[in-house]
Amino acid sequence: MRYRWFVTLGLGLSAACMRSPETALVRDAAEAMGGPSKIASVEILILEGNGEAFNFGQNKSPDGELPKFTVTELRRVIDFPGGRWRQEAMRTPTFVTANPPARQTQGVAGDVAYNVSPAGAASRASARTAMDREAELYHHPVGILREALGTEANLTNPRKEGGQDVIDVSTASGATYSLYIDESTKLPVKVVSKTSNPVLGDVLMETEFSDYAETDGLKLPSVITSRLDGDTVAVTRVTGTTLNGDPGDLEAPADAASAPAEPPVAIEVAEVAKGIWYLTGQSHHSVVAEFQDHLVLIEVPSEARTLAVIAKARELVPGKPLTHAVVTHHHFDHSGGVRAAVSEGLTIITHAGAGKFVEDVVRRQHGIEPDALAKSSKPLIIQTVEGEMVLEDEAMSIALYPVDGSPHADTLLMAHFPRQGFLVQADLYSPPAPGAPPPAGYPFAANLVENCTGRKLKVENLLPIHGRMVPMRALMDVATPAKPSE
Ligand SMILES: [Zn+2]
Ligand SMILES: [Zn+2]
Repeated sequence: MRYRWFVTLGLGLSAACMRSPETALVRDAAEAMGGPSKIASVEILILEGNGEAFNFGQNKSPDGELPKFTVTELRRVIDFPGGRWRQEAMRTPTFVTANPPARQTQGVAGDVAYNVSPAGAASRASARTAMDREAELYHHPVGILREALGTEANLTNPRKEGGQDVIDVSTASGATYSLYIDESTKLPVKVVSKTSNPVLGDVLMETEFSDYAETDGLKLPSVITSRLDGDTVAVTRVTGTTLNGDPGDLEAPADAASAPAEPPVAIEVAEVAKGIWYLTGQSHHSVVAEFQDHLVLIEVPSEARTLAVIAKARELVPGKPLTHAVVTHHHFDHSGGVRAAVSEGLTIITHAGAGKFVEDVVRRQHGIEPDALAKSSKPLIIQTVEGEMVLEDEAMSIALYPVDGSPHADTLLMAHFPRQGFLVQADLYSPPAPGAPPPAGYPFAANLVENCTGRKLKVENLLPIHGRMVPMRALMDVATPAKPSE
């Protein structure tokens, strides 16, 4: 009798361990959706629908709303055990842009993240993008619960937050996802994880789930809202769900898989006038100008490119210090090198409307992926341009002007070289390569011309941040004034 009593107690204890608060939360959520075995049986999930996508880091003003795309014909195929997904969708901009509606394809397969252009050209995205897209596999109730119910996950820190049950799910690869579960319905309402953004540093990725509906005995959210650093970046409304359908080909395209995740920086140098160098080579160009006793750099697109163009400027004129970096506007692909420039001791010159943005960018924590500034912790020295700023000595003269009334951004600066008749500007006119098809339109060109003629600037040649050097005539040709509305 005594022996048997001990056995019973032993079984009771191990059963209690199996139902730890962590396990209970996960099992309750799985039951609410249709049962743990139902969730485990879903390997391929195909979602169809529509929604909105937002252009992160591209708002008109630093505090403004993100530009919105209307998303239609969306189809996302997720292969949970394979760690792969691919999404195709039509994106139609609702803001002023030269880019027409386009079919967008993006995906991830293992550590390869890729994008496919509407013309079918595949390119590889960064290693961080691949990590973020892999994380998205767990930013869905099926993905996170498949992991949490499995044997590899570590469940910790059960807690209550704002009337919701929360638990941390750590995967075998070491990533941690906080799963939020509704107290009454027990359905997953949110998954939160941390990632690193090149400009903003440590940020939260949040995905919210609502409007659950049943498909083949499984309840799934039909509205999925994604946020990055608190900004809504995508809303998907699911109109069709297929469990374990034919996934098609989810391999990364060969051209993307064989490309490097972080391509080396390529810089081509052209001395376009005495003491003025146009540093091209990839999508975003920079300009270096030589003054009597120092150098000035225009445009700091990304950390890698900025460190490379700074090194190139110092190599071109070894005897003079590079002291200033001009930022054309706050968009992330044009300000991604601000922190790198500060880490190299450069004074930042920016539009008055971007001053607070630059201060915030410099202040941000970059603990997940420490960048050059996180390692050097140099202070920010900043000068802002309100009406006009002239940098001038006997050797060189640059006048910086705000681009007034641009539909593209409220923080745009253009740089005029009065002695050479050069104008440096970003995004307002990007001449296509010779022979390449022109864009659908040049919606910012007329405003750029007005900003030049209104100030009576003598401009003979353009040094665009995108594109190539062209005579001013090329801009005049495309800057047909808007037709009066009928
Ligand atoms: Zn821009
Ligand atoms: Zn641009």
